[in-house]
Amino acid sequence: MSRKPLLAAVGAALLTFIAGTTTARAASLPFALKSIGPGVYAAIDGPEDQAGSNAGFIVGETGVVVVDAFFSPAAAKALLAEIRRITPLPIRYVVNTHYHADHTGGDAVFREAGATIIAHRNVRGWVRTENINLLGGAGIKPAYRMLVEGLALPDQGVSGDLTLWLGDRRVEVRSVKGHTGGDLVVAVPDAHVLFCGDMVWWRVSPNVIDGTVADWMASVAGFAAASDAAETRFVPGHGELADVSDVRDFGAYLQLLSKETAAARANGLSGEALVAAVLPKLKAVYGGWEAFDYFAPKEIGFMAAELAGTKRRPVPAP
Ligand SMILES: [Zn+2]
Repeated sequence: MSRKPLLAAVGAALLTFIAGTTTARAASLPFALKSIGPGVYAAIDGPEDQAGSNAGFIVGETGVVVVDAFFSPAAAKALLAEIRRITPLPIRYVVNTHYHADHTGGDAVFREAGATIIAHRNVRGWVRTENINLLGGAGIKPAYRMLVEGLALPDQGVSGDLTLWLGDRRVEVRSVKGHTGGDLVVAVPDAHVLFCGDMVWWRVSPNVIDGTVADWMASVAGFAAASDAAETRFVPGHGELADVSDVRDFGAYLQLLSKETAAARANGLSGEALVAAVLPKLKAVYGGWEAFDYFAPKEIGFMAAELAGTKRRPVPAP
């Protein structure tokens, strides 16, 4: 199976968005819905990347929590329809793991269904601005700009941890550091499930455009060191369901990226020469990961900027 790089995927999802013709009961869903615990489901993006990212939901006694909303509102509508096939309970919340448009594009679908949109407190200031940078900056396509400027804003901001109760069922929303400066993960302790958003990627080269890899490595090590890690299903932002060994593999990728970039800097390299020196070392181990050729050279540049102290990152609003 090969997936297109994120921006190509976003393009495919955008076509669906603009056309607005995909029905909620399309013959084939844009994701695979997987039961990963009692009343806990992961929606794993299909091979054509029509949804744009992974998502999921948790059913409790008193309602439903959705985690992430894909890029494509059509895919979000399809997920809403799948939820409705499973339970008539209200959709109480949609939790965004971060502001990136491939995880927030369908928020309005769940808000219209009655959900409160919860995100890290920084997301509200970034969702309609920083996504311009994510999707091409000054040269962003007009259709992308239209999409970004129409994204729903969160209703509730989280800067630490938040516990949501669905009757007796406890859902833990946790602030973590690494991918964007406004990241949440969602744990379902009774089912040993952790929705990781883009804090974990499964055999897909990650986008570190907004990342702080030093923090990210520590967060991923923390996921793998949890007392129930061996029995936990980890839902990554992109790629298939992960277990703790996959999470450790992803952490090792970040470590190699950091280590080899630091070594190249220590050898006096910078710019394209640094990328040319580091890329083969990453490729030797991870060249088979999806989107490696697209993302890895950019990641090395971002990593070098982080180590040099010149990395551009989104700035939190007051
Ligand atoms: Zn992301």
